[in-house]
Amino acid sequence: MIYLDYQATTPIASEVAHAMEPWLKDKFANPHSPSRWGREAAAVVEVAREQVVRALKLKGGSLAFTGSATEALNWALKGIAEQATPGRNRIITVATEHAAVLDTCEWLAGKGLDLTVLPVGADGILDLDELARELDERVLIVAVMLVNNEIGVLQPVGEIARMAHASGALLLCDAVQAFGRIDIAEGPDLVALSAHKIHGPKGIGALWMRDGVKPEPLLHGGGQEQGLRSGTLSPALCVGFGAAAKLAEERCTKDYDHVRRLWVAATEALGHGWIINGSTSHRYCGNLNIRRAGLDGARLIADLRDVAFSLGSACASGSGRPSHVLRALGLDYRQSRSSIRLGFGRYTTVKELTDACKRIAAAAHAQEKLDA
Ligand code: PLP
Repeated sequence: MIYLDYQATTPIASEVAHAMEPWLKDKFANPHSPSRWGREAAAVVEVAREQVVRALKLKGGSLAFTGSATEALNWALKGIAEQATPGRNRIITVATEHAAVLDTCEWLAGKGLDLTVLPVGADGILDLDELARELDERVLIVAVMLVNNEIGVLQPVGEIARMAHASGALLLCDAVQAFGRIDIAEGPDLVALSAHKIHGPKGIGALWMRDGVKPEPLLHGGGQEQGLRSGTLSPALCVGFGAAAKLAEERCTKDYDHVRRLWVAATEALGHGWIINGSTSHRYCGNLNIRRAGLDGARLIADLRDVAFSLGSACASGSGRPSHVLRALGLDYRQSRSSIRLGFGRYTTVKELTDACKRIAAAAHAQEKLDA
């Protein structure tokens, strides 16, 4: 199997699995209990928190662990919406955001908040003049992701933060696909992260909060995370997240250079006839979302069962509905259906990626012959 679905999830690093092992086996204490074992578990949770914060490199904030980035995004949006006033109750987001943001914003709109979903250009990038026209003193929070999970395009988050702050609004950044891979610009007030996108375990995410920014709790109970998020933490998952963050920080440049080499190898091996969806300059290179006239992406996936890649989104794979991200770029139904997403990274070799891309190209040609 050649794994080319790094945006869906990443393979767990052996260093991460190794660090987690004792906390999955013998060291089972509750990190919130006062026994010596409990205090030992609490100490490793704090080391892990520090490792994630260090890798994030943002100043003046604190980090709470959550069960996923989906939870972190729900918490940030709903928790800040709780603080809305009649004069400041608008949310601005972007049409290409992850469902964890878009659906939460829609839900809040159903509760009476005023929602604006901004379009993107054909390159997938938000037009800052458009944002400037929408920003006013009624905007409570702006939610924009840094690296898009479907098309890899980067949004100018630092500039967006400056603009949001100038109108007194907060910026929530979904940095799930960016964290550990590229630097996150200073500026966001809230940042959502997920361990399983950086070779860590599934089932743990985090919300970084700038000092003074405190969303109301989403989960009530024991108040384990600074009184803001309840639920017993898993030391094993925290240790795994910390180890993955530390590794990502140490390997950041090496991984980045490797991914750029992979991108060049993939585009060369695919050959002619493919169009890249989204900006080719403002992007993270571990994501290659491509389309080809007349291609049936779902059929291609079925034809190449030992190469793991996907359509524009899981939603598109499951329901037959075209991806909302590709639609936001202006692609029609046929163009979306003829798009596939290849995701690669740290553990992908140039050889396996080249082999997979040649097989993808050959299978696409075979489809064309059959359909001719
Ligand atoms: N945001 C982005 C950009 C993602 O790619 C994902 C995962 O697919 C999420 C949020 C949700 O992350 P999690 O799986 O931790 O809930």
